[in-house]
Amino acid sequence: MYWVAAKRCWPSTSRWGPNAQFAFPASGGTGAIWKRLASRLRGDVRTGQAVLRIDEAAKTLLTSDGSILSYGSLVATGALDQLVAMTAGAPAHVRQAATALKHTTVAMVGLGYKSPTTDRRSWLYFPGREAPFYRATNFSRYAPANVPRSDPSRYSAWMTETSLPAGTLLDEAALVEECDTALRRCGLVPDGAQRVSGHLELIPYAYPVPTTGRDTALARIQPWLESHEIYSRGRFGTWRYEIGNMDHAVTMGQDIARRLVHGTAERIYTVPRPAAAREAVHGR
Ligand SMILES: Cc1cc2nc3c(=O)[nH]c(=O)nc-3n(C[C@H](O)[C@H](O)[C@H](O)COP(=O)(O)OP(=O)(O)OC[C@H]3O[C@@H](n4cnc5c(N)ncnc54)[C@H](O)[C@@H]3O)c2cc1C
Repeated sequence: MYWVAAKRCWPSTSRWGPNAQFAFPASGGTGAIWKRLASRLRGDVRTGQAVLRIDEAAKTLLTSDGSILSYGSLVATGALDQLVAMTAGAPAHVRQAATALKHTTVAMVGLGYKSPTTDRRSWLYFPGREAPFYRATNFSRYAPANVPRSDPSRYSAWMTETSLPAGTLLDEAALVEECDTALRRCGLVPDGAQRVSGHLELIPYAYPVPTTGRDTALARIQPWLESHEIYSRGRFGTWRYEIGNMDHAVTMGQDIARRLVHGTAERIYTVPRPAAAREAVHGR
């Protein structure tokens, strides 16, 4: 692991949150964490095989290669609205509730420069109109292997994230150019730095939006799924941005496994209660 200390860049560190310091893989990017974890799994692990349909009464699921698999308990980490849509017996009120769940899409633009980074900050937010992205990440600072190994001291890499309403039509080439221009305009990439790479990844389900109707919808969906031993966990499985980071997702995975095997309580995930029920309990 390679350590990045964001707080070193800022004089007042006491108000920084739990991610003021974090570990990052020395090579392989963020995905290296999960590849290493997956390499320790034994047993029947199948990838590239999407679940298309769930028969919750028969406790079987159909995958994209036509296999039908049986299960005892099902832990699902895909998007909750899609899970409901593919579950054969989901009643109308559960299907209706799933339509209330809102999400955003993110266009992630990766840009490489033949020029070392001149900025010591790890990541920055852009709330205004100065840039098309809301966040820029200084990836060459995370680990030297995030830029060409031939000579890391001569290259830099930035990742920008632009939020879009789900379903937006996007001119991808134009956005790559706009992000490059904005990085230079904001002084994060030096004038005259040669751009050597640029690509865009569209993340259709990027942020689960905590709308006012969300908890009511979740309170209709999750208990019904659990009554059929389907446990939806993770960022879009719970549709709760508040517990939507990687550490939360891993903890939720550990917890549901322990609950199903040992009967122990989950630490993060709780059954959502709609606002009206919360008010009744708290007398407000
Ligand atoms: C732009 C962006 C930046 C982020 N930055 C950070 C960050 O800096 N730090 C941080 O901690 N978190 C960050 N996150 C959040 C982080 O990505 C999530 O917390 C994490 O990926 C959630 O893990 P998960 O297992 O719940 O879901 P996912 O990682 O989405 O995994 C769900 C899995 O389910 C699979 N799946 C879905 N449907 C099916 C199906 N029908 N059949 C079979 N498989 C299916 C998918 O292929 C996927 O592999 C970021 C997220 C985004 C979008």
